[in-house]
Formats: sequence, C-alpha cells, structure tokens
Amino acid sequence: MPPNPAPRQDSVLPDPLSRELVPRLLSWYAENARDLPWRLSCDPYRVWVSEIMLQQTTVDVVRDYYARFLKAFPTVEALAAAEESDVLKLWEGLGYYTRARNMLRAAKVIMEKHGGNFPSAYEDIRALPGVGDYTAGAIASICFDAPRAAVDGNVLRVFSRLMAQDYPTAADKKRLAGQISALYPKGACGDFTQSLMELGALVCTPSSPQCGACPVSTLCRAHAEGKVDAFPARRAAKEKRVEALTVLILTRGEEIAMRRRAPVGLLGGLWELPNAPGHLDGADAVAFAGRLGARPEKLIQSGRAAHVFSHVRWDMLWYHIACDAGAPALDGGAVWVSPAARREKHSLPSAFSKLLKQAGLDA
Ligand code: SF4
Repeated sequence: MPPNPAPRQDSVLPDPLSRELVPRLLSWYAENARDLPWRLSCDPYRVWVSEIMLQQTTVDVVRDYYARFLKAFPTVEALAAAEESDVLKLWEGLGYYTRARNMLRAAKVIMEKHGGNFPSAYEDIRALPGVGDYTAGAIASICFDAPRAAVDGNVLRVFSRLMAQDYPTAADKKRLAGQISALYPKGACGDFTQSLMELGALVCTPSSPQCGACPVSTLCRAHAEGKVDAFPARRAAKEKRVEALTVLILTRGEEIAMRRRAPVGLLGGLWELPNAPGHLDGADAVAFAGRLGARPEKLIQSGRAAHVFSHVRWDMLWYHIACDAGAPALDGGAVWVSPAARREKHSLPSAFSKLLKQAGLDA
C-alpha cells in the first residue's frame, strides 16, 4: 500500500500554533467560560436555536428570546407543529425574520426526514434550511463531538491575527476551516469550538483586544509584530441604498391600522403600518389615509426615523392621523388591530414598532 501523501503545505497550521493552540485554549476555557443558558446541555435542538438567534444578535439580547422560545417550543416536534405567526411573534424584535421561517421549515424536515431526531451527521445538519457551514460546524462539534470547525466573524478575526494574514475570499475561509478542523481534539471538539468563540467574544475583540490577558499571545504573529490593529484588514463598508417612505400611524380609538406585507422580499409576510414610497406632505398623507377607507379626522403629529437593514436604509417620514371612531373596515388588506391583538398575534417588526414608540403609542 502506498504511504499517505505528505500533507500539502497550506493544509496545516504552522508550529507551534498547531501544537499549542488546543491545550492552551481548552484550559483557558475551563476557567473562563461564561455561564450561558444554551451551554447547560448539548441537546442539538437547543444549541441550534441559540446559534441561529446569535447570528446578527448579541448574547445579552438573545438570553430572553431564547428562554421564551424554548418555553413555547421545548422540542423540535413542538416547533414543527407551530403556526408561523406564533413563531414570528416570538421572534419580534430580533430581526432577520427569514431565520425564524427557516427554523420552522427545518423542524418540519427533521420530523419528516429524520423521524423527529435531530440529525447527527454534518452533511445532514448542513442540508437543513437556514443552516450554513458555521452553524453546521457548531452543532456537529458541540453536540456530536465531530471535528468540524465553526468559522464565524469572531473566529476569522482571531485566526487573522494569530496568522497575521487576511482571509478575504470564500476559498480562503474554506481552507482555514480545513486547517482548524485538523486541530480538533476528539473528546473535546465542542469545548474547542466554544473556546475559540469565547476568545473572540471576550479577549480578541474587534477593537481593543486584551492581548495582555490572552492565553495564546505568545503564538500570535500579529501581536509579535505589533500589527494587531492591521488584522483583519478593514474593508470600506458598502454604501446602503436609501429608500424614502411615508408611513401612516392611523388610530381609531386605541386601535391601529395594520396590514400584511407581500409574502416574499424584505420583512415578507409580516405586519406593517400602511406606507407608500417617497415623502408625502401632510395633505397628501391625509389623502392617502382616505384612500385606505380610514376617514381621517385630525393630523396629530409627524416625525422622522431611520431603520437600517443589511442592504438598505429606510428614511421614514411618519404621520399620526386620528380617524373617525365609526370608520368602517379598511381597504387594501388593512385592518384595525387592538392593543391586545398586537401583543398576542401581530408581529410588527421593529422598523415600524419604533415609530409607535416615537409617537407615544404603546408598541
Ligand atoms: S494576542 Fe491579541 S491579537 Fe493575538 S489572539 Fe490574543 S488577543 Fe488576539
């Protein structure tokens, strides 16, 4: 049998990094790991929920959402049986609602294709809706002790500094994920994944990294070369497209007019306040309310607010218009919604709920 070919030069991380990184991080993590609710068990359902919530959202924000979500849907079976509107309601304020919709779809796939058991093979986890390389690596390593790296922005930053190099392309990141995976210690794969995440979150932070308290500082090339600030290289933020909108806050007593957004696209299928492109003046806004069948009585106030999405920024001019208490049903799919119904059923994304707050109305 021919001998195994020698590993390609770029397929392994250099010594002493490859030799010392794992033991140093594992002992540091044993001492310094934060007490986070999703670390109490290795149940893949719970780890999955936390990992999806933590994308684009901070640990402090996620804690409450995570507890509420698991109370409502303690198992994958419970989630698979849920109404989409109930899942979205629990997601209200977390943003990036596609994540919640994909979780519901994935829960159904787990029920139908895997008999209700969360898949354990990396490829099966990766095939679930809404699960990318990072999430699949996190679940596979944390829950199933698989040697699979989970490379998110934090881990990328740590290695960019350790290696004093950038990983700008998808191919670079894939190569790095392979190099990190080769280091994984069987029996402690989950701890290694979490130690890397923890180092990025607590020590090797985007600005002002705590190199003096870093367990791997003597392995760090950027630190040795005094170039920590140079890695990872900052790229100019992409200019966001700006969309001007006029948003109507129509009230009938305590009720507020709301309608559903189109099922696909930004905030697809969620509830919204009636709105139109461009900035209308007060008279045109009142006329717009009339076209919705609202019988506007008085323009109470107006204001301006912005909301930033990943690719677009909304520049919103809003008008609060009180309507005749006897106003009939609205046109164009809009409905009058009571405060109780808003709290219980109707998910109003924060782009709109912030306007209600600005107007002094309970969101
Ligand atoms: S020494 Fe500093 S830059 Fe290097 S890994 Fe540690 S915290 Fe990050």
